[in-house]
Amino acid sequence: MSADYRAEREDVLTAVRRIVDAGLVAGASGNVSRRIRTPDGDLFAVTASRVPYHRFTLDDVVVVDADVDAVYGEGIPSSESLCHMAVYRARTDVHAVIHTHSVHASAFAVAGIPIPPILDEQVISLGGAVEVAVYGASASDAIADNAVRALGDRAAVLLRHHGALGVGADLDEAVAVVELVERIAQIRALSISLGEPSELSLEIVAAEQSVYRMMKGFR
Ligand SMILES: [Zn+2]
Repeated sequence: MSADYRAEREDVLTAVRRIVDAGLVAGASGNVSRRIRTPDGDLFAVTASRVPYHRFTLDDVVVVDADVDAVYGEGIPSSESLCHMAVYRARTDVHAVIHTHSVHASAFAVAGIPIPPILDEQVISLGGAVEVAVYGASASDAIADNAVRALGDRAAVLLRHHGALGVGADLDEAVAVVELVERIAQIRALSISLGEPSELSLEIVAAEQSVYRMMKGFR
């Protein structure tokens, strides 16, 4: 780890480019962070607030401590950093958090409709349903607490009237999670429009959840 946390900040910048290319965020919406383990405790590389993605650079990734106090960089940490920190506190297995405003996932978040287990890869990769957290205003303690509660031990959650949040053991995994959430939301919406959308059986869900938990190293 270098004094300017360059490798860790580049890791965040790469994830930003990937979610922009995937069309999961627009303008300056959404945010990305990753945990940095240090001998003196955990730090976090996080995207700066209100920087449009078309001019986002390495300088727009800042490093903060668990209280979101600046450790490195000039930018203002994302307004949703509190939400990211709440997830890191609750989930020691999580080392990367990504929040997006992707369209189909946000539509379910607005409607307040969770996405039940409908695809095998959903349960194996995300741990089951994608629940909708109780509403909390942006950047509030409520949005953080409600997100953590609705996330449980799974990998993704919808933020009511807002967007999606995905977590992973690293940023590659978190990017894959938010991409999958958007795809599942699209498929769910299409299947509803086709009529009588079905869900995976409880038996299959239980078996796939045990695969998810085993891969995560949960007991
Ligand atoms: Zn947001």
